[in-house]
Amino acid sequence: MKIYPIEAGNFKLDGGAMFGVVPKTIWNKTNPADENNLIDIATRCMLIEDGKRLILIDNGMGNKQSGKFFGYYSLWGTHSVDASLAKYGFHRDDITDVFMTHLHFDHCGGSVIWNKDKTGYEVAFKNAKFWSNKDHWNWATNPNPREKASFLKENILPMQESGQLNFIEKGTEAWSKSEDMNFDIFFADGHTDKMMIPKILYQEKTLCFMADLLPTAGHLPLPYVMGYDTRPLLTLPEKEKFLREAAQNNYYLWLEHDAHNEIITVEETEKGVRLKEIFTYNQVFGA
Ligand SMILES: [Zn+2]
Repeated sequence: MKIYPIEAGNFKLDGGAMFGVVPKTIWNKTNPADENNLIDIATRCMLIEDGKRLILIDNGMGNKQSGKFFGYYSLWGTHSVDASLAKYGFHRDDITDVFMTHLHFDHCGGSVIWNKDKTGYEVAFKNAKFWSNKDHWNWATNPNPREKASFLKENILPMQESGQLNFIEKGTEAWSKSEDMNFDIFFADGHTDKMMIPKILYQEKTLCFMADLLPTAGHLPLPYVMGYDTRPLLTLPEKEKFLREAAQNNYYLWLEHDAHNEIITVEETEKGVRLKEIFTYNQVFGA
């Protein structure tokens, strides 16, 4: 089994919204804002090659929204899913499974593209199974007014229409096991309903794809919860449990949204769980 980082593109988000109740004087130290109060955000997805399977975890925003829409998110950098896949000799048609932590636009927008004559949509990975879970799918396709702007129909429905949509059952914690792969899932309900956090055993280390449970290294202190979370009081115990376990077992935490820190480890301190070390992917898992 091999794992590769797939950078799907960078953007910016309002720093205040990203840090909820935390004042700017504090979060600005770890996540410095630009003149518009925006902070750097990545969409660092993960590719797992396991025998004949090629599994992509999340896929960024995609490119089918309007210029006006993307204007709100100040896209920057030159990354794309296609370019990142090509770097390792892969093409999007090689992907056998697309695992989506949740269906917010910056995690699943790359699943769907315009069709050739731009009259409708089609899935971007024509040979893949798309994986969500039933509760989250229902939550996303009947969105509450607060999350509605994050669940875009055009990102979601074409996966079902293609017949390629599959659901993971909660309770199937070991989603995928092979001789080489051990892929567990932690379900979290604080950010959105039934977000799925992958925990993968790789090179004798536990690598956790943190998605929106821990968007950046700056979010480690417990109350540093995004304003976007639908149930912040539930994020607190979920995050505490996960980070404690991560500190005790020296998990490697893959930060999807941190533009400047790829992977971190954490440790228990008297103040709670805090940053231990920062690594690039290559430093931990490079050849
Ligand atoms: Zn999200």
